[in-house]
Amino acid sequence: MFDYTIQNSCLKDKTILITGAGDGIGKQAALTYAELGATVILLGRTVEKLENVYDEIVAAGNPEPAIVPLDMKGATKQHYIDMTNTIIDQFGKLDGALLNASVLGELTPFVNIHEQTFDDVMQINVKAQMMMAQALITALQKANKASLVFTTSTVGGKGRAFWATYSMSKFATEGMMELIADEFEGTNLRTNAINPGGTRTAMRATAYPGENPDTLATPKDIMPLYVYLMSDDSAAVNGQILKAQ
Ligand code: NDP
Repeated sequence: MFDYTIQNSCLKDKTILITGAGDGIGKQAALTYAELGATVILLGRTVEKLENVYDEIVAAGNPEPAIVPLDMKGATKQHYIDMTNTIIDQFGKLDGALLNASVLGELTPFVNIHEQTFDDVMQINVKAQMMMAQALITALQKANKASLVFTTSTVGGKGRAFWATYSMSKFATEGMMELIADEFEGTNLRTNAINPGGTRTAMRATAYPGENPDTLATPKDIMPLYVYLMSDDSAAVNGQILKAQ
């Protein structure tokens, strides 16, 4: 695992948005950030899942979260601008954004990639992330030290047979992260990407149906890197692709 000792209350007074906060790694990140004192903004497409995470955070006595139900497949640039304005009205600034939500699409030979699947995966994994980041940067610039975190995958740095559009979308994610990091180098905003590595979630089970999930790290196991990149300890880290395991 990424070597970082998590300190109690290290995210106190921070406001952090997490996409895909209803399930998998995003859900765990939301619970962990709230436990460490952050006010979390839970973005996802299934309201019921977001409400469950909200309830869990409140029941644990952690800061009351906000919920943003949004399907990144259909959301327009205006949705992201409106959401950012609401965040600025309510919290005055955004300290961190974990862009975690994505979809796998279909694992298939390259020649069989369906145009519609390509469009859907690229819409959610690339275009929506771009529009969201464009809007959120306005709120991130209002924080003292701000962290924008993208989520990549091993197939985002090295193409692998049958990983199709998902692999291409993660290459684009890494490129987007690097160009934002370079543009904002030396400012209050740092931008990095996490490669979580094989983690016990629904997406992983779909990608590797024959695998025993007990052999995998849990979302909780990989949290040290997720916390590090949101804490002020990583203030000088910019433009990096870091492995959680
Ligand atoms: P999951 O599929 O378990 O969770 C993905 C989350 O994203 C869900 O909460 C889902 O919402 C949300 N989401 C998907 N599509 C949309 C959409 N259109 N609009 C809004 N929210 C959406 O995935 P993981 O937790 O496994 O993955 C998290 C990230 O980590 C992803 O970027 C993935 O590519 C990356 N990753 C994961 C690995 C792993 O082994 N798990 C390995 C390498 C990278 P809902 O629950 O409502 O469907």
